[in-house]
Amino acid sequence: MLPLHSPGPSGGQIDPYALGREGLGALLSDQPSYRVEQIQRWLVRGVDDPADMTDQPAAVRERLVELFPRAPRLLRHTTADGGLTHKVLLECASGEAVESVLMLYPAREGSAARATVCISTQAGCAMGCPFCATGQAGFRGQLGLGDVVRQVTVMQRLLATGRIDVPGIGDHVTNVVFMGMGEPLANLAVTVDAVRWLHDPDGFNLSARSMTVSTVGLVPGIRRLQSLALPITLAVSLHAPNDALRDDLVPVNRQHPLRELLAACRRYREATGRRLTFEYVLIDGINADVGHARQLADLVRGLGAHVNLIPMNPTPAVPWKAPSGNAQHAFRATLQQSGVSATIRRNRGTEIDAACGQLYADYAVASGKTLPAARGAADRLLAGRRGNG
Ligand code: SAH
Ligand code: SF4
Repeated sequence: MLPLHSPGPSGGQIDPYALGREGLGALLSDQPSYRVEQIQRWLVRGVDDPADMTDQPAAVRERLVELFPRAPRLLRHTTADGGLTHKVLLECASGEAVESVLMLYPAREGSAARATVCISTQAGCAMGCPFCATGQAGFRGQLGLGDVVRQVTVMQRLLATGRIDVPGIGDHVTNVVFMGMGEPLANLAVTVDAVRWLHDPDGFNLSARSMTVSTVGLVPGIRRLQSLALPITLAVSLHAPNDALRDDLVPVNRQHPLRELLAACRRYREATGRRLTFEYVLIDGINADVGHARQLADLVRGLGAHVNLIPMNPTPAVPWKAPSGNAQHAFRATLQQSGVSATIRRNRGTEIDAACGQLYADYAVASGKTLPAARGAADRLLAGRRGNG
């Protein structure tokens, strides 16, 4: 296991997921070395309460119970889409709760079955994108490495123990997408360590090609991901085809405007050989006209990217909605006619507010909290500025 750099929980306790082989070895230096492998295997399978590590002697279990923080509880588990979508609410080391979603895709002609987990990297988000429920509610804190990777191992355990049992789906998580709550590259050390742990043969042992990191476009973070030299898919949330509109829809565009962002995307693609994905939330009357589609095609043509069009899910703070089905298809057709590959993403789990990429925190509605920045941007756009220029 490679050494990991992100901070663990405080108070003298050590997050077992952040320890790695060396750290565990140092804790158990008086024990035979196979104990480390045994404990790592438990962690990968989502068993992080030492009391449940039944192949460990009582003395080791007791020592680990003292050192490891209490194993977080699974607070809630809801299902939708006839059992193909599962949302869990997991307690974090800090006491915060975090949501993640498992989406099951039975095998179809030409594609194998998949079990994809969509994970969160922050409690809330500070980026203030006005159409996003997480952005509207603001930032509450960073997740630690254990909080992030547990979202995968908890799902793995539900699959492996048969608590989630869908015909044609194996008992393994096959894909991980960093598309839940928060901006992964604004919790960079933890995201990088999570990617490495998930990929590591001594960790979750997932191929890099099975992972996608979705970012609002933090250029230094894109560079850092690129430096890992792993073919992880990069998904960039574009949402607007020009800086004037993107400054409002994605406020961080003011720090990293389109020119700089697209140059970073191009370098990422050249370095990793991976096809880029651009995400584009379609918002009626704001960014979803055929004119926007033409501008978008001009912007991304030549990058060999795929565009994921996401009809906007309604959120509490803005009166925006997705355009009609016809308008969505016209947008996609315009991109395709210009030689840009594009699909419209079917939203999973909307009935449990768990559309991946828009994990819907109850607190957002309960507290009625919205960021002034998000509200301000929405008000400007509602006042008639359509940002075509
Ligand atoms: N912060 C990262 C990853 C989490 S958001 C990012 O922005 O990329 C994941 C995706 O969900 C993003 O593309 C985001 O724009 C999209 N999303 C956010 N709010 C949405 C909404 N109301 N409807 C549909 N998609 C939304
Ligand atoms: Fe944060 Fe992504 Fe939501 Fe923007 S879209 S506020 S970056 S979670």
